[in-house]
Amino acid sequence: MSDEVEVLVVGAGVAGIAAARALRMRGLSCLVLEAKDRIGGRAYTDATGFDHGASWLHQANDNPLTAFAEALGFETVDHDKLRQRLLFTEGRFATTAERGAFAAAEDRFWRVIEAAAADGAPDRPASDAAPQGGRFDALVAHWEGAQICAAELSRMSLHDFATTALDGPNLLLRRGLGTLVASLAEGLPIRLGAPVTRLDWGGKSVEASGAFGRIRARAAIITVSTGVLAQGRIAFTPALPAHTQEAIIALPLGLLNKLAFSIPPGALPEFGPFASLRRDIAGQGDRPISWIARPFGAPVMLAFIGGSLAWELSRAGHRATEAHARAEFANVFGAEAAKALGVPIITDWGEDPQFLGSYSHAIPGAQAARRALAEPLVDGRLIFAGEACHPRFAATVAGAWLSGEDAAGIVTDQTLSDRFP
Ligand SMILES: Cc1cc2nc3c(=O)[nH]c(=O)nc-3n(C[C@H](O)[C@H](O)[C@H](O)COP(=O)(O)OP(=O)(O)OC[C@H]3O[C@@H](n4cnc5c(N)ncnc54)[C@H](O)[C@@H]3O)c2cc1C
Repeated sequence: MSDEVEVLVVGAGVAGIAAARALRMRGLSCLVLEAKDRIGGRAYTDATGFDHGASWLHQANDNPLTAFAEALGFETVDHDKLRQRLLFTEGRFATTAERGAFAAAEDRFWRVIEAAAADGAPDRPASDAAPQGGRFDALVAHWEGAQICAAELSRMSLHDFATTALDGPNLLLRRGLGTLVASLAEGLPIRLGAPVTRLDWGGKSVEASGAFGRIRARAAIITVSTGVLAQGRIAFTPALPAHTQEAIIALPLGLLNKLAFSIPPGALPEFGPFASLRRDIAGQGDRPISWIARPFGAPVMLAFIGGSLAWELSRAGHRATEAHARAEFANVFGAEAAKALGVPIITDWGEDPQFLGSYSHAIPGAQAARRALAEPLVDGRLIFAGEACHPRFAATVAGAWLSGEDAAGIVTDQTLSDRFP
């Protein structure tokens, strides 16, 4: 089978949905090919209401999805206003003074990072610039690196890390961020279960092929993750230019996995909903995981495992991941409480062939890779989009959305006026 459309979009995640909506607004015909049997990509809410991937609208006042949440009547809460912040240190919960010291260490971390990344300063691993030696410095570095950016600071470009840093408000959606994203895809021409395995872009048109057949278009917007691109899961013919290939390699995905445990009544001290718990680093090489209790009052305990530990456990499998999380829980709440936790839902972002990681970071020296990847090829006939392409809001749904819209705007009238050969 061979079809023709004006623009082909590969991937029905946030960037693909944004691109398809923008193309539709320009009156262009497009088709979105999605490998999975669901839409949303890394923004996905399951039937229990658990967001497997993205859950916060970060920096909500600048986030393009905030206005959609409001317009569509999605109930949101400002997590930072509600959350009780718990810190477990030296075998007990931290005192108010200790929590204050941790907050002060975080403030100092960002002051030092911003100064080190000032214009003209050479790039280097973000870890080289981070403060060291203070009581909570190692924990702050672990938190800002592995647990938030899904990769250790030593793997990340200082400039990219500082430029893509986010602020609040951090909104959570009662019905889930994935639900919002899915509702934004309503009515779009999306073909599910259609993995693209080959993309020919050498001629006046582009052609995508896979088990679904062949589809020809005047331009293609590719939104699959840099993990998928780096593994060559789509064969580009001719091969991509060197600068695009280098950009893909310079923007690897880190890994953040989540576990959603149900909690029986009375199994935990009565923290307020949304309480967040961090454990202090207990010694050299310790990589604590973090927790959020009872989102929206639900009897659920969410665990977050990021960075190198997440990769190790992901490769070891679900059983090892669950055992690790339970041992961490027992460390804080005791063995009986850990036994009472229900069977968890465990995310698989590192092993899932459609993602191969959670979100991107730039390796040291490679901040420019985000713009390089987004640079249109052959006058806009082939365009890469997605979270990795956004220089400011990379790694987020905001960056993915804006990048998808930008890509749709790049498809020029010139590109479209070329006749199919
Ligand atoms: C655990 C986790 C927590 C996160 N938390 C947050 C958060 O709180 N806030 C936030 O803003 N962001 C968060 N993110 C990041 C956010 O989810 C992503 O930045 C964003 O969803 C990426 O969207 P995208 O469209 O660029 O890519 P994707 O979502 O990866 O979309 C690409 C699509 O392409 C499809 N695909 C892959 N291969 C093929 C192929 N060969 N053919 C056709 N289709 C293919 C995929 O199935 C996917 O649907 C989180 C991510 C994870 C994993």
